[in-house]
Amino acid sequence: MLKVDEQWLSDITYQVNCTDTLLKEEGFTRLGFSKEEEKAIQQFTEISTNLGLHTRQDEAGNVIAKWEGSDSKDAPIAIGSHLDTVKHGGGFDGAAGVICALSAIKTLKDSGFTPSIPIEVICFRSEESSRFGVSTIGSKAMAGLLDKEAIKDVKDEDGTSVQKAVEEVGLTWSNFEKAERMKSELKQFIELHIEQGTRIEQAGSSFGIARAIACPVRLSIELSGKAGHTGTTPMDNRRDALCAAAPLISYVSEEASRRSEASDYPVVATVSTLTVEPNVMTVIPDTVQLGIDIRSVDDELKRELAEAIEKKIISLANESRVECRVETLVDDDSVFLDPETLASLKRVGENLGYKGFDMESGAGHDIMNMAHKWPTGLLFIPCKDGVSHHPSEFASQEDMVMGAEIIAHYLKNEA
Ligand SMILES: [Zn+2]
Repeated sequence: MLKVDEQWLSDITYQVNCTDTLLKEEGFTRLGFSKEEEKAIQQFTEISTNLGLHTRQDEAGNVIAKWEGSDSKDAPIAIGSHLDTVKHGGGFDGAAGVICALSAIKTLKDSGFTPSIPIEVICFRSEESSRFGVSTIGSKAMAGLLDKEAIKDVKDEDGTSVQKAVEEVGLTWSNFEKAERMKSELKQFIELHIEQGTRIEQAGSSFGIARAIACPVRLSIELSGKAGHTGTTPMDNRRDALCAAAPLISYVSEEASRRSEASDYPVVATVSTLTVEPNVMTVIPDTVQLGIDIRSVDDELKRELAEAIEKKIISLANESRVECRVETLVDDDSVFLDPETLASLKRVGENLGYKGFDMESGAGHDIMNMAHKWPTGLLFIPCKDGVSHHPSEFASQEDMVMGAEIIAHYLKNEA
């Protein structure tokens, strides 16, 4: 049995977060392609180098730390995640995966193990969409899925474009797509991530195995009525856009619950944005925009719900005599991971005495891009109260050690 060096794991948890406390009021803000992300990546590089790994940065800024196997001609097994965060996020979303991967390598090295095929730890750039509204930029580039033209002029709230941000951290925009790797360059990819939910705990399990990543359908709905004075316009002569929208909000939530109960897979749906115009105390709202995010790994289920929502709003709009426009912003197929890789990850965990739970991922991760090209497996560890993207995001040392242990044993079997 391999023994994880718990003190070392704890030390590098602080080191990659460039901090001496993991729970601070303002949390961590390491946006993609910022100097804060850069600093965390430098720590990653330093730790990897000290472990005797050979590190390189690819053209998209992803850092790859490689442990050469005894037969280094073979394609490596890669494992990784990201170190950027949302604004005021926590020190575990992404970081947990990077830390547990490094810890697993340290554990194997301490035990005297030498892999026969190479192992890589990958730290992806700019996974979160919080700076540019575009997620998983680094892993998209590596998997060859990045539409460079579509994002180059996208700007953050300070007016800095993706291209400029990329160049500010010393990368060359014209070379960015060269980060793409061929299928033959990797054998498989594994990611460990915090669950960002509470299903593992609810199931009385210790870790989760995600079979699939639920990708969203996103609807944008605009309702146009007629503005008027709130004091002088009679009730029977109004075209109030907000009155038309109001019942839709509870419909979305109730309908998602109802359809989830009747299906094998859950579907979740949220009215997540709402703007009201003119938003003035004495004026009847004439324009309302709603953004709706619908997710399930059952693509048919989520599309049926999207259609039902569309029908509902059309009928609500008719009743209130307002005009209605529905636009589908995103409609992506869910991504299914490799059953064999998942089964062996689960087996390894259970052989160590931990209880595994088969589940889906409601959130996107770097692995969804890697899954387009390579066999992949996603391992979840619990996080406290399911809280993530928040300063109080926390994964226990015990669960981090479990994660490192499972990965170490998995790599020992596979590499
Ligand atoms: Zn993440």
